[in-house]
Amino acid sequence: MFIGHPRPVKPMGRYVSHLECAYTGKRYQPGAVHTVSDDGKPIVVKYDLEAIRREVSRESIGESMESGFWRYSALLPVTKKENRISLGEVLTPLIDLEGSCEILGSRPGSVTVKDESRLPTGSFKARGLALAVSMAKELGISHLAIPTNGNAGSALAAYATRAGIITTVLCPDNTPEINVRETQIQGAKTHLVNGLIGECGKIIADGAPHIDWFAVSTLKEPYRIEGKKTMGLELAEQLGWKLPDVIFYPTGGGTGIIGMWKAFHELRELGWIDCEMPKMVAVQSTGCAPIVRAWENDDEFAEFWEDAETISSGIRVPSALGDFMILEVVRSSGGFAIAVTDDETLEFQNEIGLRDGLLLCPEGAATAVAYRRSIESGQISPEEHAILFNTATGLKYPLPEVDSRIDKEMVDYTKF
Ligand SMILES: *Cc1c(COP(=O)(O)O)cnc(C)c1O
Repeated sequence: MFIGHPRPVKPMGRYVSHLECAYTGKRYQPGAVHTVSDDGKPIVVKYDLEAIRREVSRESIGESMESGFWRYSALLPVTKKENRISLGEVLTPLIDLEGSCEILGSRPGSVTVKDESRLPTGSFKARGLALAVSMAKELGISHLAIPTNGNAGSALAAYATRAGIITTVLCPDNTPEINVRETQIQGAKTHLVNGLIGECGKIIADGAPHIDWFAVSTLKEPYRIEGKKTMGLELAEQLGWKLPDVIFYPTGGGTGIIGMWKAFHELRELGWIDCEMPKMVAVQSTGCAPIVRAWENDDEFAEFWEDAETISSGIRVPSALGDFMILEVVRSSGGFAIAVTDDETLEFQNEIGLRDGLLLCPEGAATAVAYRRSIESGQISPEEHAILFNTATGLKYPLPEVDSRIDKEMVDYTKF
């Protein structure tokens, strides 16, 4: 008998059964380099959930000593432990917004923020790019390239540098300076382009015959979704293998909302959860709301949004390759899509900071505005448990100035 003996450790990633086109279902081989499917649509990873059900328990996840989301390795595609690239990921905290009930229209305990700002590079992009880079390492890719106007570039830079992989990042020249600089200092060859993100993407695509780089643009490779999926796995575990009633998610390219929905389905098939699925709410800005427009028109795909403009740069995505997947998640979950203004977003960012001491990024604050609007319209009730995703640190964005000055020679105590 081997009482107390540790159970043999299964190699990770051994549960991937195949990859498939998210639109047509056409199958692809795991273990090979893939971009989009033959139909130009995203490719997703499929697992042998029966085998996982037999061999892995949800209790064993809780006992894992792995850093952050790597505890879910049975449900991730990386095969060899040495290919896992880590920068000290944490399980991101759940924080109730108690002080902001009045402006949110909520009850104490009914609104919880999942605060993704605590991840390496200060945003949840770390999840997706940690997986994309780990798989690139596993597949022997030596140069990665990405078009970005924000957090994806710095997350890629950090993880790829850690992995010893060369990275080229192309940013539109109006990308916030902080994002460009953090990307460069974390080891990426960083270039400013006098064009939009789509044009940066085109430079990378056109360069492929000349330079042996691999593009990790949103949903143009299969693994960023797997990383973002861990938001859903983590949330379920943190809530005691239960799910909230509704999730408000700031939606740009849609990797997160698609990934979480995939996570919930996998957990349900594994029998690790048996609760109702949450309503998934895609939050966008009125200055760039292609998904909201398509949802309202009941369209299968979203049309390109002209002249996209919003302070919430993470959701300034005029055209998403996975538009049909986002819309499918919203519809099949009984959720909805909603657009909010930048003015309201800044107001809520400010108010929540003042009332709850929690600094949200604009994208996160946008979900708080969307929550308030949905309470007002009756689309959800204050009895429901809502999760708001704060996808990045507010510290990367401009903040209101402090205008009070004190003269040390003439301190006026009536000012305090
Ligand atoms: C990228 C990004 C988003 C949108 O993420 P998707 O999952 O691609 O929709 C939201 N917020 C921030 C801060 C981002 O950087």
